[in-house]
Amino acid sequence: VTSKTKPNLIGTKITLKEAEEHLSEEERREVRKRYRALLKAIKKSGNNTDIRTVGKALRVAMKAHRHQRRKSGEPYIYHPLQVATIVAEIGLTDTTSIVAALLHDVVEDTDLTLEDISQMFGTTVAELVDGLTKVSKLSHSAVIMPHLETYRKILLALAKDVRVVIIKIADRLDNMRSLDALPEHKRVRIAMETRYLYAPLAHRLGLYSIKTELEDLALKHLNPKQYYEIEKWVKKNKEKWEKILNRFVRQLRIYLRKAGYNNFTIEKRIKAISSIYDKLVRKKDEGITLNEIYDVLAVRIVLDVPPETEDVACYDVLRVVHKHFPHIPDRVRDWISHPKANGYQSLHTTVIGPEGKHIEVQIRSVRMHEVAEKGIAAHWKYKQGVLSDKVLEEWFARVREILAHPEKDPHLFLEDMKLNLFDNEIHVFTPKGEIITLPKGATVLDFAFHIHTQLGYHCIGAKVNNKVVEPTHVLNDGDQVEVLTAQSQTPQPEWLTVVKTAIARRALRRYFRRAKKELINKGKEKVKKFFAENNIKFVPSNLKTLVKYLGFKDVKELYYAVGRGDLSLKMRDGWKVEDGKLIIEKPLTLEEQLRIQLHSSTIQEFEGKSFQKCCTPLPGDNIVIFQREDGALEIHHSSCEKAAELLAHYGAQIIKTKWEPDGKISFMIRIRVKGTDRKGVVYDLSRIISKELDMNMQGISIESDRGQFSGYIDVFVSNREQLDNLIKRLEKVPYLHSVEVAEGQLLWASEN
Ligand code: MN
Repeated sequence: VTSKTKPNLIGTKITLKEAEEHLSEEERREVRKRYRALLKAIKKSGNNTDIRTVGKALRVAMKAHRHQRRKSGEPYIYHPLQVATIVAEIGLTDTTSIVAALLHDVVEDTDLTLEDISQMFGTTVAELVDGLTKVSKLSHSAVIMPHLETYRKILLALAKDVRVVIIKIADRLDNMRSLDALPEHKRVRIAMETRYLYAPLAHRLGLYSIKTELEDLALKHLNPKQYYEIEKWVKKNKEKWEKILNRFVRQLRIYLRKAGYNNFTIEKRIKAISSIYDKLVRKKDEGITLNEIYDVLAVRIVLDVPPETEDVACYDVLRVVHKHFPHIPDRVRDWISHPKANGYQSLHTTVIGPEGKHIEVQIRSVRMHEVAEKGIAAHWKYKQGVLSDKVLEEWFARVREILAHPEKDPHLFLEDMKLNLFDNEIHVFTPKGEIITLPKGATVLDFAFHIHTQLGYHCIGAKVNNKVVEPTHVLNDGDQVEVLTAQSQTPQPEWLTVVKTAIARRALRRYFRRAKKELINKGKEKVKKFFAENNIKFVPSNLKTLVKYLGFKDVKELYYAVGRGDLSLKMRDGWKVEDGKLIIEKPLTLEEQLRIQLHSSTIQEFEGKSFQKCCTPLPGDNIVIFQREDGALEIHHSSCEKAAELLAHYGAQIIKTKWEPDGKISFMIRIRVKGTDRKGVVYDLSRIISKELDMNMQGISIESDRGQFSGYIDVFVSNREQLDNLIKRLEKVPYLHSVEVAEGQLLWASEN
């Protein structure tokens, strides 16, 4: 669209002919068909909508968008028409809302300005369109995307008028319906926003059918494999299930009539794919497969009864249902005496229907049903009769309150945010807004190595959502990550224990192998030099003498220890040189040998070998060291049962000693915590550990359930004292009830 083509819209009456010039005959028919559907939806609401203004808005939008087509090739106007229809179906049929829905994209996409709109349709419509334009721009800037909670807040701030949120949800629904036409990276971003932002918003507003459709469409693009797998499963069983449902409904009708009910409808359905998927994810720990999900059938009894007696009728029908079908006791929900915050009311129960199949039964009145389908708009309409300005105002106040306090209703927003749609994957963003998919639990390092090996090697941390974090920081879904590097940085051995991706692990292993080789060469040179200085011939027999004396497995280990600087070579007591031959008369005690090895061990050698899962020996502890036949060291706390056992069997080969802290090794310890749930637990604990105690925290996982939380913290410590201090400090945190070192956790040792 160029500015030359700006249509002269203001002050002139746009005729339909003018508006649809650019459309083919068939497309014009389609526009009329869709417009009729819009009018029908408006009419159904019984509201006094100004149809003439709606018609004018359609013509203006049509003309303004005349140069645009959707990605699918369809005329653009189909989209605003569709959005307006969805808005009307929701029940938001005041003239302003419908007109704003029709015009929602004109400012962003065409030459029409807000002033033009204001002049043609008044300031309120212009304000709504302004809000919609801003929200739309927000969604397109990838920078905002990473933090959905922030996005939500900004959206609500921009949407001074709550109608903006509703129209935006309708806009998103229509866009999701035609998402296939977009390239993949856009689809995934839009689907993610939908899953984490718009579907929960729709849910909060009580727009259940829209929420379900949004979730299904999002799942299709985010996890197509699972989506189609479930879809296939549903198709395969559909015929069988429909038979069961039909039989059940026939029986229900008979029982209801017998009980004196004549005015009711029964809807039957197979649950949505996203709902089946959510169940699969929730029951994943129990190892449940598709065929074991029996919660897929549902019927809804909608009673046409006057509002005065609706409660009594619903409870009575529940009684009738329970009388004839066995029900599952803990699945009965009474949303009638305890309506949800968004006004939802209904009775839910799950009964065992024909062929032993579980069927969810919802029972509600016509009024309750409309609230459930259209959200609280309907709720207020029923309360006040018509959709007057006063009703709208009260409704908006309520909506604003619901949207502004997600924590008020445990079912809603935040809960949905937590539900992990991606199974074992997270999606994070580069600063440019590109999406990187990583396994769950992936760290900044995994991200860095994913982008480039050098970025990983020199990573000193990252800015995650603009906050600086450690390289070992675990990323969350939707994070925006900017890796920070320093040329002086080199890979740390402990990184190997925290990275989650094969690509990072391989790169690190490669680095350490190379580094080890270099150290071995360096050590070899040092040994050569030492030999030369003391007139010892550099021959295998002399090397063997030294290796044996120090208790190393082979000469490479000797070189390595020397290369790393853990072992300085000097002539010692009882050493002499004769004709270039090194003679050692006084061997080291086993204890001395083990000490040397303990200090010169590196992460690769420590991995899984030296430390026992049964106890948690740390520098600073009294320990026993045992050298196994394969040469590996076993170290136990002196009070460990295994230590006593070893002492009994191998007394002579066991060294009892105090492990002097030398700060060279650090260990990952898992600490279990339990307490009373409160906001910001994770933040508090991270702050105490990272900031106050300046310790290196590797991970934290907290789960809460009914006001209690439990979880664990993984932290690196280098000695006993440090661990004791940490536990003492955590025990002082008021809402923590229990703090303990998790037993049986594998400890990792690494070089500092
Ligand atoms: Mn749009």
